Amino acid sequence: MSIEARQYINGAWVAGKSGSPATRENPSNTTEIVGSYPLSSVEETSAAIEAAQAALAGWKSLAGAARSEILHRAANILDEQKEELARVVAREIGKPIGEARGEVKRGVVLLRYYAGEGLRAMGEVYPASDGKTLLYSNRVPLGVVGVITPWNFPVAIPIWKMAPALIFGNSVVWKPAEPASLTGFALMQILEKAGFPKGVINMVLGRGSEAGQCISSHPLVHGITFTGSNEVGRKVALAAVERGVKFQLEMGGKNPTIVAADADLPKAADLTLSAAMRFAGQKCTATSRVIVEESVLSAFTEMLVEKAKSLKLCDPMADDCYLGPVVNRSQHANILAAVDRSVKSGAWLLTGGKKPGGNLENGYFIEPAVFNHVDPQSELGQKEFFGPVLGIISARDLKQAIAIANEVPFGLSAAIFTRDVSKILHFIKSADAGMIKINGETAGVEPHAPFGGLKQSSSHSREQGRAAIEFFTSIQTIAISPSNEI
Ligand code: NAP
Ligand code: MG
Repeated sequence: MSIEARQYINGAWVAGKSGSPATRENPSNTTEIVGSYPLSSVEETSAAIEAAQAALAGWKSLAGAARSEILHRAANILDEQKEELARVVAREIGKPIGEARGEVKRGVVLLRYYAGEGLRAMGEVYPASDGKTLLYSNRVPLGVVGVITPWNFPVAIPIWKMAPALIFGNSVVWKPAEPASLTGFALMQILEKAGFPKGVINMVLGRGSEAGQCISSHPLVHGITFTGSNEVGRKVALAAVERGVKFQLEMGGKNPTIVAADADLPKAADLTLSAAMRFAGQKCTATSRVIVEESVLSAFTEMLVEKAKSLKLCDPMADDCYLGPVVNRSQHANILAAVDRSVKSGAWLLTGGKKPGGNLENGYFIEPAVFNHVDPQSELGQKEFFGPVLGIISARDLKQAIAIANEVPFGLSAAIFTRDVSKILHFIKSADAGMIKINGETAGVEPHAPFGGLKQSSSHSREQGRAAIEFFTSIQTIAISPSNEI
């Protein structure tokens, strides 16, 4: 069944005006067209922004409890429809269905968490210097918030941005990434049923360079929350700075896992592979470098390569699928070309890195690639490939391993496998990463704990959990003094 996506503007479903719609092929079988979607024009995007502005006063004046009720309803509807939505995710972006189900379930938890925020404190009371004045702070919404999201977590990321934006009284204009337009439409259909007043939440589709650019530069947008690549993040930030509005960026990673000499090697190999290869390495928190203490390098490498060879590429619709296709033609070509360049520049390809034939020929599959003899300063050691590609780097000792781990511009997530508490403590103190895992994979986050990177991975504000209130509100400080003595 082919999906015909539409935009959602001012409480109405709107087909695109601008010429014929674009189509989306199934990345695991490109002969199947999953659906079509309009490419929203600047006029349509502006209309969505104006609708959000018109809805703002009513929405922000509602009691937190009333907004909370709508978010609870959204959570319940999403929970009822989670299987249908997970199937759209698997067909549109090739995410294995088991992971897609987990992502949708996370969306339900996020909606419930933020529904609860409608009933929590929004400020603090301070002792005034005259002893008579009531001095307090109150958190107020930013206004219209632009939400620009990537394709790789097309349900969880939009929800972890929109749910806090909405509960704190902002109205929203959301642009999903183009490769996840159909999922965006399917999620928006679910949110619509929760009964938001018209204009409070709007969705436009299509080109980042048109709809996305319009959101970041429109004078009525007072806050922009973005997750995606560093290249686009920089443009969004510049447009926000230009207008003096608040922005938040979560971007790329080149996440390291360190395997210390005393690590449980089979566990380290399993979890490193899981972090590197599940969803074909297309997670911002995926491990792309594994830095191994010299004394266990050959034992670990052998184990890892053997396990990598046993991973089977699979149809994302299969319940037990671990490693499906990459998202689209351009990513497929880019990753294969980057693998080629890495071989040419001297890294040793131990397994994978090729397009398979046979019954997978019609999909954007890549066999899981493991390299060793990776120069930490090479492209493979420094750049985010966003595919099923892992580089093994050797280090003399833990100090050198951490130095290599930190020698990239990113700082999203980092892990270490060791049983030694001194190594653990040293790693926590020295790793340049916003997310730190001990004996766990770099990928995977909890919905109620702060999430975000250091260095160029982030603009340094945090998402999820209570941390979200910092971005999605501003603080007013209020002093009420008596007019006369009583
Ligand atoms: P992307 O290419 O940067 O796109 C992100 C979003 O920005 C999309 O909606 C895109 O629309 C839009 N966009 C493109 N050009 C724009 C412009 N000039 N102005 C405003 N918006 C514009 O990223 P992606 O390919 O979707 O996702 C992969 C990247 O996201 C990776 O780098 C990954 O590490 C990062 N990521 C980070 C996190 C995190 O939390 N740190 C989580 C997930 C992903 P179009 O799709 O229409 O171009
Ligand atoms: Mg992109």
